[in-house]
Order: sequence, then C-alpha cells, then structure tokens
Amino acid sequence: MTLRYQQYLPDEQAMCQFGEKLIKLIREVAHLHGFVVYLNGDLGAGKTTLSRGMIQGLGHSGNVKSPTYTLVEEYHLADLHIYHFDLYRLSDPEELEFMGIRDYFQPNSICLVEWAEKGKGLLSEADLIINIAYAEQARDIELIAQSPVASQILQQLQAI
Ligand code: ADP
Ligand code: MG
Repeated sequence: MTLRYQQYLPDEQAMCQFGEKLIKLIREVAHLHGFVVYLNGDLGAGKTTLSRGMIQGLGHSGNVKSPTYTLVEEYHLADLHIYHFDLYRLSDPEELEFMGIRDYFQPNSICLVEWAEKGKGLLSEADLIINIAYAEQARDIELIAQSPVASQILQQLQAI
C-alpha cells in the first residue's frame, strides 16, 4: 500500500501540470465512488493553482475562479461534477448546512476543498490529503492517501 507521495514543484506551471496528471488518475475511480481531496497549506501556497490544474485537466477550458467569496464553484463536465470549495471565510459551520453540503459529496463528484478544517464534522472524510509547503520560491507537495482507492492512485503516480 502506498500511503504517501512527495514531489518538489519548482514553479506554478509545474504545479498545474501535476494537477492535470493527478486528476486523470482520480477520474478513473471518481465515477464509481466520488472522490474528496482536502488541500492544505498557508495562504498563497498554491491550493487554488493546483485546483485549477486539476479542473482544467478534466477538460474545463474557461477560467477557474477562487471560491473565496462564493464558498463553492461548480464545474459540470460530461459525466462528472467538480465542486471546488474554499471555506476560509466561513464564519459559522451552520452555513454549510444551509447550502446543503451533503448533496455535494456524491458518486460522480470530485470535491476539492481548501480550508477543510473550517467545516470539520460537516464534510465527508477526505480520500486524499494534499499538503503544500513553501520551499522558498518553489513548493513541496505531499499527498497522503486516506482510502484504498487513493492509495492505488499514489501507486500509479509513483509508477509514472
Ligand atoms: P492558495 O490557494 O493556497 O492561497 P494560490 O494558488 O491562490 O494559493 O496562489 C499561489 C501563488 O503562488 C500564485 O501567485 C502562484 O503564481 C505562486 N507560485 C509560485 N510558485 C508556485 C508553485 N511552485 N506552485 C504554485 N504556485 C506557485
Ligand atoms: Mg485559494
């Protein structure tokens, strides 16, 4: 079982490309199970940049806006829904109840969640946790599998 994968990403372009590669592996399983990713890291670490790479890697060709003010941005592609959350500004977890948070976490959905700790107890558990850390101008990324299917994905990532 592969539980952990690390990579050094020298710049924004490398981050986006990594997102594209990762999402293609996630897509294979997401239509069966749904898939939840928590993205951790300080402000400006690259959570939204990585999400953009993932969303565009699924074929979305338009902009990817940060959901900072809207809490969630949605993308509906052929057979998949992507929900990109940013809970940084969430003041009361009850807001998540009002928005019907459980309906987002379904088979056929990939949920990418920035600042998931703000929604603790109300979100589905992550399949995959991604930690992004500053490495001067570059970034170190660490992926931690939280489910068997995520572990398979990390194994495939290692084999590429
Ligand atoms: P977050 O969502 O974590 O607050 P953003 O993705 O919005 O962060 O911003 C990341 C910023 O860091 C962008 O301005 C991006 O250009 C810059 N950056 C520099 N190097 C990298 C890297 N290796 N990966 C991602 N972003 C990087
Ligand atoms: Mg962000």
